[in-house]
Amino acid sequence: MKYKIATLGSHSALQILKGAHDEGFKTIVICEKGTERPYKSFGVADKIITVDSFADFFKVENELIEENAIIIPHGTFTSVVSLDKMERLKIAHYGNKKILKWEADRNMCMRWLTEAGVRIPRMFDNPKEIDRPVIVKFFGARGGEGYFFCTNADQFNEKIRNAPKVPYIIQEYIIGVPVYIHFFYSQLNNELEIMGFDKRYESNVDSIGRIAARDQIALNLQSSYTIVGNIPLVVRESFLPEIFEIGENVVKASQKLEPPGLYGPFCIESIITPDQKIYVFEISARIVAGTNPFIEGSPYTALKYNEPMSCGRRIARELKLAIQNGRLKEVLG
Ligand code: AMP
Repeated sequence: MKYKIATLGSHSALQILKGAHDEGFKTIVICEKGTERPYKSFGVADKIITVDSFADFFKVENELIEENAIIIPHGTFTSVVSLDKMERLKIAHYGNKKILKWEADRNMCMRWLTEAGVRIPRMFDNPKEIDRPVIVKFFGARGGEGYFFCTNADQFNEKIRNAPKVPYIIQEYIIGVPVYIHFFYSQLNNELEIMGFDKRYESNVDSIGRIAARDQIALNLQSSYTIVGNIPLVVRESFLPEIFEIGENVVKASQKLEPPGLYGPFCIESIITPDQKIYVFEISARIVAGTNPFIEGSPYTALKYNEPMSCGRRIARELKLAIQNGRLKEVLG
């Protein structure tokens, strides 16, 4: 095949590269110096390009273009290539680049979800209106660093004083369990697929419960949500009709807001309450690392495909079909 698949060596690269191999593509991985070992050891990369830092991606862009590489974006890629640079990317890029600003800006993301008509936590423009538990989230916060909780305006005013001086949103805190929903929307046949689900393993919130509440208070613990890994999940089957509908509405809204809209892999981040209401609080408009447990496929892809189908492989399959049918332009954005 004339085209190769390339990605940055991090996040979900192993899965993307393995999936590309399974579909017959040659692969290239761009690694930061000293991080090449997994890509060598697991044999997923035909070529490794080493850079001092991912910020140097643009120094190797021409080399990738000469190789006929198609770049697959993932969370590390979208965090190192700033949005203005993203729109000027010359290399063939899988997915609609313009959609990425809708996930990066928390206000735009909430506008997108509102347009989709899905259930979202209440947003508070004015701290004086806080009348329930809220979570205050800062833009660009890694691992939820600096997020804080409060239940009224006085607590808010006290906590915001020591907070980072960056934009934030005040969002209703939903009591329930987080569920991350992985979708794939095919631009070639306009079909939405559920690829799987995960929950995250976050430090320290996932271990705070291992010490008594009085010790938590004595230690003056601050909760943080630094992601350490992802745990596969299967949801109650009766949730599936609504989950398909949520995915479909999010895609439809994106087609209106940023044509040609969202396609390829994406993730809806939700909280499901004890009374079985699904609240959506974020969208990731590209492959998420929560799909990594499913390199051999998930229970859901096992139903649809009679072969192991990871999200990475599904991307490569879509590219292969697009190339075979002369429709590659439709999936590059
Ligand atoms: P985020 O940085 O938006 O992904 O949020 C970090 C973590 O905070 C998530 O993994 C959720 O567990 C939790 N979280 C975020 N927003 C809410 C919310 N509105 N209600 C309850 N939990 C939330």
